[in-house]
Amino acid sequence: MHELAESTVGVESFPSFTKPARLRWESIPADIRQRLLSNVWCGHCRFETTITSFSGTIKGGDLLLVGKCAECHGDVARVIEGS
Ligand SMILES: [Zn+2]
Repeated sequence: MHELAESTVGVESFPSFTKPARLRWESIPADIRQRLLSNVWCGHCRFETTITSFSGTIKGGDLLLVGKCAECHGDVARVIEGS
């Protein structure tokens, strides 16, 4: 019910993650997280770009990141499959 508001507590730069999404995200090593964020395919730019202003949700058991392309500010998304 209040998972968005709750998830802002103690979360530096991921205020728009749902709680389960944040837990999943934080279980990923930081260097891999960085890599996941910096090689997101942008269909507008037609190359891999960095996702910014992203939010996280769990969709079908996978972690779904939705945000903006750092280059063109178009919508980009990345699915991180659950293990
Ligand atoms: Zn782009």
